Amino acid sequence: MNSFDVIVIGAGIIGAACAVELQALGRKVLLVDALHPGAGVTAAGMGHLVALDETDDELDLCMLSLARWDAYLSRKGGLAEHAQCGTLWVAEDEAQMAQAARRVHRLAQRGWSASLLSGAELARIEPSLRKGLAGGLRVERDSAVYPPAVARELAARLVAQGGATRFGTQVLRIGAHDMQLASGERLTAADIVVAAGTGVTSLLPDIPVFPRKGHLAITDRYPGRLAHQVVSMGYGQTEAGSDALAVAANVQPRATGQWLIGSCRQDGVAHAEVDPRVLAQLLRSAIALLPCLAGMTIIRSWTGMRPATRDGRPIIGRHPVLGHVWLAAGHEGLGVTTAFGTAQLLADLMLGRPASIDPTPYSPSRFIHAPAHAQA
Ligand SMILES: Cc1cc2nc3c(=O)[nH]c(=O)nc-3n(C[C@H](O)[C@H](O)[C@H](O)COP(=O)(O)OP(=O)(O)OC[C@H]3O[C@@H](n4cnc5c(N)ncnc54)[C@H](O)[C@@H]3O)c2cc1C
Repeated sequence: MNSFDVIVIGAGIIGAACAVELQALGRKVLLVDALHPGAGVTAAGMGHLVALDETDDELDLCMLSLARWDAYLSRKGGLAEHAQCGTLWVAEDEAQMAQAARRVHRLAQRGWSASLLSGAELARIEPSLRKGLAGGLRVERDSAVYPPAVARELAARLVAQGGATRFGTQVLRIGAHDMQLASGERLTAADIVVAAGTGVTSLLPDIPVFPRKGHLAITDRYPGRLAHQVVSMGYGQTEAGSDALAVAANVQPRATGQWLIGSCRQDGVAHAEVDPRVLAQLLRSAIALLPCLAGMTIIRSWTGMRPATRDGRPIIGRHPVLGHVWLAAGHEGLGVTTAFGTAQLLADLMLGRPASIDPTPYSPSRFIHAPAHAQA
């Protein structure tokens, strides 16, 4: 039987970031995954590193994490396929322009510079956009990465720092300090971090993380025709439990010259197949902003399941009942952006040091309550 200080279950971008963070702080860490690093939804998404501000706490976590991404990318930018494309939030009417102005203000308060653009300025800096748009905002410091490459690099770094990995074997069950692997092996640890994405509920059924399906498509190579990640101001998280399909144009220029097209959200759909009707709707919304897309060739489409929660916030912290089990899950559509911030906050809580940001909005106890005798 093998024993570790910490076993992290899940080598997606979240678990890999947590494992490296804890190992660097002197813990003996094992990272376990049923597949391999970055094979989960981390391989499916867009990798947009974006300061989102739907709530103050969302922006707190983004800012904490984006500062860490800056440090990471200054060393590993090439490996991460980093593109400093910025975000161009597109406003189609005056109501969205007002929303854009509020976002400029909120980001500026955090030192994340953003500028409001008129319709004419928007057309000048991104000529492929449809003419006649109201305007928008440009966030220069947002960027894009290739997330599975980062997860792989972090897993390799963990080993280089003295940690260990075990891939290709599923964790079947966890207890307070131990776990059973499908390989038959039993592992023990002082602490267990569950960072299993949508797989959390198979290990901890009381943790309400559910899949929120997204479709993506990628074009052939059209270099030089799109400079920014173009996102509709209508982009955001749908209400939990909504079966309605929410679609908002989100188009990312890849370093290869390809255009990566998202973004839609769908709850209550368990199968991963591409739905041609949803794909068509996704493409129509992107073409509505970028008409030249209609003449481009789509070479591949796929789906990914975002690990979502009812209140739209990730779950980061100690399990209220299983005291040595910790959670880092439920990051929905923002887990790449917030991976390093999540790792830092989790380490703060595990080490009992002052938290870098208020952990309360992320606490698992908003979903599960400790039994009364445990609270005394
Ligand atoms: C369409 C789409 C677009 C997106 N775009 C963006 C974006 O632009 N920017 C952004 O920040 N985020 C984006 N995201 C969200 C982002 O991809 C996720 O929030 C993030 O990847 C979640 O990472 P994770 O490590 O929690 O999950 P995962 O990557 O799914 O990792 C979980 C891992 O746990 C393993 N696992 C599960 N159960 C077990 C078990 N029992 N035993 C062992 N291993 C197990 C799995 O094999 C997997 O490797 C997008 C997502 C989608 C679907």
